[in-house]
Amino acid sequence: APTIGVLALQGDVREHARSLERAGATAVAVRRPAELEAVDALVVPGGESTTMWKLAEAFEMLEPLRIRIKSGMPTFGSCAGMIMLADRIEGGVEGQRTIGGIDMVVRRNAFGRQVDSFEATLDFAARGEIRAVFIRAPWVESVGSGVQVLGVAEPGDRIVAVRQGPLLATSFHPELTGDTRVHSYFVEMVREH
Ligand code: GLN
Repeated sequence: APTIGVLALQGDVREHARSLERAGATAVAVRRPAELEAVDALVVPGGESTTMWKLAEAFEMLEPLRIRIKSGMPTFGSCAGMIMLADRIEGGVEGQRTIGGIDMVVRRNAFGRQVDSFEATLDFAARGEIRAVFIRAPWVESVGSGVQVLGVAEPGDRIVAVRQGPLLATSFHPELTGDTRVHSYFVEMVREH
């Protein structure tokens, strides 16, 4: 089984670890550069991207994360994790930085202005309908030509799931539902890599 780290600076680490294990991976927490070196792939969880960014800098993890992602490590970010994987963000706080990797613009708290939390049904990566949970969720404002759209959601037919090579990101939280299809999709990406 592939060993997949969950970035454990902040956010819903345990829920992702459980979903990864159910999808057939070995999940470990990653807080330090040495732990990052030891994993085949990484999940950046949901939580709060401003806090995650500050902790990533404080733990001297931002550069190591950038380097490994640039070198092709499969990585999946959900919600705040999607924000962390965006090359560009809108609605960030002063000075907010991301890890980057996916050629897209992500708008923080985009759905939040209309409705704080909601669920929607969407077709994920043409694998059938899934229930998606959105919590003060971002949406993808625009993507570069190398980015595949894997899911759109009401309201507004917004882009909420994308993939660029070995990088996957969702606005919603598949780790909070019993459905492990998104995690299985990611584990398959890691196996193919
Ligand atoms: N609004 C949060 C942020 O900007 C993301 C919310 C979430 O991860 N549920 O980081």
